[in-house]
Amino acid sequence: MLNKVSVGIRDLQKYRLVVGNELIDEIEKLADELKGIRLCHINSSSFGGGVAELLSSYIPLVRSAGLTMDWQVIHGDRRFFTVTKSIHNALQGGDGSLIRQEKAQKRYKTQNQMNAREMDYNYDVFIINDPQPAALRHFSDDRHAKWIWRCHIDTSEPDKGAWAFLRPYVEQHDAAIFTMAQFIPSDLRVSEIATMAPAIDAFSAKNMSLPRALCREMTDNLGIDRNRPLIVQVSRFDPWKDPFGVMKIYQLAREKVAGLQLALVGSLASDDPEGWGLYAAIHTEADKDRDIHVFTNLTGVGSMQVNAFQTACDVAIQKSIREGFGLVVSEALWKCIPVVAGNAGGIPMQMTGNLTDYLVDTLEECAEKVVHLLENRELATELGKEGKQNVTRNFLMPRLIRDELSLVKRVLER
Ligand code: UDP
Repeated sequence: MLNKVSVGIRDLQKYRLVVGNELIDEIEKLADELKGIRLCHINSSSFGGGVAELLSSYIPLVRSAGLTMDWQVIHGDRRFFTVTKSIHNALQGGDGSLIRQEKAQKRYKTQNQMNAREMDYNYDVFIINDPQPAALRHFSDDRHAKWIWRCHIDTSEPDKGAWAFLRPYVEQHDAAIFTMAQFIPSDLRVSEIATMAPAIDAFSAKNMSLPRALCREMTDNLGIDRNRPLIVQVSRFDPWKDPFGVMKIYQLAREKVAGLQLALVGSLASDDPEGWGLYAAIHTEADKDRDIHVFTNLTGVGSMQVNAFQTACDVAIQKSIREGFGLVVSEALWKCIPVVAGNAGGIPMQMTGNLTDYLVDTLEECAEKVVHLLENRELATELGKEGKQNVTRNFLMPRLIRDELSLVKRVLER
């Protein structure tokens, strides 16, 4: 059997005070219409990275609306995940040579076939996240359920070979979801294609409101000097997140801001074999400067500590080169922390209004904006507040629940 992740239940009603009654009432009405329908999300890792983060809050909240929703995780070994990470990278415009190889294609298919045999099929709707499990539908004998493919990555300029390989599997689904219209490949033929942005959970350990003094205390315990400015990037160790670029940005900014400190808070995911090598290389580089600190989920820096870093820092950086959405941007803005971020993928939709001035393309530009915010604290505070308003309106869980359940309803009715 595939592993089922135990995530419990979380009270959706709390959101009435944050997003208003109308949206929660709408969700309750949808849940009522879908009563008795069994839903299941499937992905490839229960921790590390945005999809796991999202599902671990999303599913308990959907359950509290009275629906059955579970989470199954596919199995894979390092070789399979090396292939799937290369598909992921190639779909974001990276090198697609591995997935053109017959051996890699075979590994992908065989593993999906094995997982399809081990799935629990006792559901009416499957939502398949990202490329790793995208061929389950192809290899399953299921003729009962509806299948939806949810793409979390930036597929606006995919490597042609990688997309040609994956497309037939995606097209066997009843619907597909992309984060933005720009990500929908023009040749994709699926009965229904929806766009919806991911969202964060305001009440999770990652995003709950914590006093800044407490957060400073927590980061102080991890070696950060609370009396000196701190910039932070929270990301998987992934080349698309430009961690070496962030270290250069810090060095440039430090020339202007005395005593500046950088924390790179990075997670390693079980489905991301690339992360380990990069982690080692980042560590080696960071060791050259005692004010660059590297933390991971493997050494006790979990959701609460990430919350502390995002709350205690002065400016958050997200210098992504490609980005499906970048939950971390909304996470920082939710805490009223201004963000300087790469002008990539799903990031600009979170950086609206005056924050658009802080979307950057180069390291120099990024360092300049960081310095500007560190030197103009009032402006930084105003930007943080503006960002929080945008997150409240657009990127909290209830909006995503409403969007996804509406799609499920349409697909079931068809
Ligand atoms: N994250 C974490 N610990 C870390 C690094 C990242 O908990 O050390 C979380 C982060 O807070 C966010 C998610 O992992 O919720 C990353 O999601 P995002 O959409 O930013 O990027 P992805 O990893 O999906 O590319």
